[in-house]
Amino acid sequence: MSGAPLRFTGDFTRQEALPPEALAAAERVLLSGRLHRYSPEPSGALSEVSALEAEFAAFQGSRYALAVSSGGAAMALALRALGVGPGDVVLSNAFTLAPVPGAIASLGASPRFVETADDLTIDLDDLRAKAGGAKALLLSHMRGHSPDMPRLAALCAELNLPLIEDCAHAMGARWAGKPAGHWGRIACFSTQSYKHIDSGEGGLLTTDEDDLAARAILLSGSYMLYERHGAAPPPAAFAALRLDVPNMSARMDNLRAAILRPQLALLPARIARWRALYDRLETGLAGSPAALIARPVAEAFVGSSFQFRLPGWTGARIATFLSRCAARGLALKWFGAPEPQAYTSHYQHWRYAAPATLPQTDALLAALFDLRLPLSFTPEDAGQIAAILRDEIAAVAALPEGALAAPALTLGD
Ligand SMILES: *Cc1c(COP(=O)(O)O)cnc(C)c1O
Repeated sequence: MSGAPLRFTGDFTRQEALPPEALAAAERVLLSGRLHRYSPEPSGALSEVSALEAEFAAFQGSRYALAVSSGGAAMALALRALGVGPGDVVLSNAFTLAPVPGAIASLGASPRFVETADDLTIDLDDLRAKAGGAKALLLSHMRGHSPDMPRLAALCAELNLPLIEDCAHAMGARWAGKPAGHWGRIACFSTQSYKHIDSGEGGLLTTDEDDLAARAILLSGSYMLYERHGAAPPPAAFAALRLDVPNMSARMDNLRAAILRPQLALLPARIARWRALYDRLETGLAGSPAALIARPVAEAFVGSSFQFRLPGWTGARIATFLSRCAARGLALKWFGAPEPQAYTSHYQHWRYAAPATLPQTDALLAALFDLRLPLSFTPEDAGQIAAILRDEIAAVAALPEGALAAPALTLGD
């Protein structure tokens, strides 16, 4: 083949436009002049936020659901509802995003990071080793990768460790048929633009426990209006708590809820589309030197982003690879960058947490790459991305060390 090499022109940051039903619902809310979730509806109907809570509880198969202002707020409320407070230690995966340790720190508690297995999930042996004295585990299904959930749940039960699931990248995922968010005591979701349903910012929390649901609702800032909720426990659950639980003002508003409801209805179809993109990329990279991430058959994941590793590549080789990919239109994220960039994250960049040494995680992140797969892409786009990656991985692997870009420092150097 001759001619200029293929250049990808899609935009990795462009989400799909909202569906027409969401636009119509947004207009209705704006014209109603009732944006606050507790503005009484003259018809006596549920507010948009309460309706979203009822629909999300049904979608998840959870007893209770609470809509809040962000995924981070959902996690902070969940920790607080479980009684985590200043000085407590909360375990979390080292491979996670900044809002997770941030939620822990917001309570005056300290994150304790657990090592990462080759499949990017939490290392269960290291979890056992580090559990002593911890108050809870805040587990991230980071980038949609779930550990062996029955094993994890059994281990948490054995260690008497309350489990909170961070399902920011796992809304709609299942393990052996059971939804993500059903393995622990509370689950937290994000509706920020790069997650599975999009209101710009927003979050949801689910639980089956009356006491935790009542605490979370009061914490979210329900005043004495907790009876006006879509999926809340009976008033008796609030009786002993309502004057003792502080108001953290983390409510969702009707505009966001209105644009989320039609998206929730579309989620199963969206998941099928994400999987088509993911599978195309995975097939396109099979047999290349890239190490793909193992996906066990029990894991019905969503695939809204794609990760691969180039084990053993030096910082200079990676820098060359990234700049050549960028020149061909691929916005790759690299988790090993010495300085945090955009949304990439490395536990060593969260200096408010106690310093930790996690050699397994360091080695993985040093050669870990990440691509977003927005639904504005088609499967043909995913095929093009795979073709460019294959080309560049092969070309850069063949370069002698002397032909590489100036070495970039990797963490741990
Ligand atoms: C996005 C995200 C969250 C929550 O983020 P918010 O921006 O606060 O909604 C939590 N955990 C992970 C892993 C995330 O990617």
